[in-house]
Amino acid sequence: MGGRKLMMGRGGLIGERDSAYTTVRLRIPAGIVYSSQLSAIQDAADRFGDGRIHLSTRQTLEIPHVRREKAQEVLDFLAQAGWYQQDLSGNIRNVVACPGTSSCPNALIDAQALALEIDSLLTECADVPGKVKVGVSGCANGCGHSLLCDLGVVGRAEIAFDPSLCRRCHRCVREACRTGALQVQGGSESVRLDPALCEGCGLCVPACHAGALAVNRVIWQVWVAGKLGRSPRFGLELARLASPAAVLDLAGALLALWKAKGQAGERLGDFVRRLGLGGIRHALGLPSSGRLAAQPLPRNREATMRLA
Ligand code: SF4
Ligand code: SF4
Ligand code: SF4
Repeated sequence: MGGRKLMMGRGGLIGERDSAYTTVRLRIPAGIVYSSQLSAIQDAADRFGDGRIHLSTRQTLEIPHVRREKAQEVLDFLAQAGWYQQDLSGNIRNVVACPGTSSCPNALIDAQALALEIDSLLTECADVPGKVKVGVSGCANGCGHSLLCDLGVVGRAEIAFDPSLCRRCHRCVREACRTGALQVQGGSESVRLDPALCEGCGLCVPACHAGALAVNRVIWQVWVAGKLGRSPRFGLELARLASPAAVLDLAGALLALWKAKGQAGERLGDFVRRLGLGGIRHALGLPSSGRLAAQPLPRNREATMRLA
């Protein structure tokens, strides 16, 4: 324990064991890095650090062992190559996303585009009361760790099953469905879909060559109040929404509520748990059940990205 002491950080600058040095952490929304940016970070690590670059668990890059008085010079140097600076208040952590529809065959939503929009939303309201972590996942596999964030989004499929088209090949049951939502009925060998067991992964749809299974609509499932750290907990399902624009509206409204009613230093997830899911839903005009909102929420900003 001899060398340990309380380490203080300023978001993008993280104190090291030797207080003469700092680790410079960058903001890399959705973990997207362009090849043209890489030579600059290599230069920065060689010139200002000790040649190492650290990959963080939240899709950021860090340059360790930079002399404190050189930290701003490093950030300015990297900004010229298109790197963002981390929020120096330390409250807004890098927005994480899986590849989503940009490359993953399982994806139901464009997780990266939504993460970039949420990142823009957060940078517009940096003076939040406490820490906020966001994760976006393209499907129920949750590779963006959405259920372990203050605010998480997961793409889900609402499945429609037409028994009249079913040829009873059972391929969907054998090869696609891992939850038991699709079951073979004893005797008749007909197939039944149990919506209560369906996780909305959508994998049964391409497995069915008869067109009996289809994605009725894509649902943008919003989770809140998850966290890792010393007291980890899974998030709570706040809402099911019909579009990415509705997710952005909800995120904007939730952040505004937190800024208005949150206590100093209170992270977003703790704020949600203090008010309770019912209180948050009531304040935001969401259905009390958390089921799909029938009407889009009032828009508070325009979605400008490639969101479908
Ligand atoms: S969460 Fe789904 S869409 Fe995203 S990378 Fe994982 S499997 Fe692919
Ligand atoms: S894969 Fe399609 S046709 Fe075959 S059992 Fe499933 S729903 Fe029926
Ligand atoms: S969407 Fe996934 S969980 Fe639901 S029935 Fe199809 S394969 Fe099973």
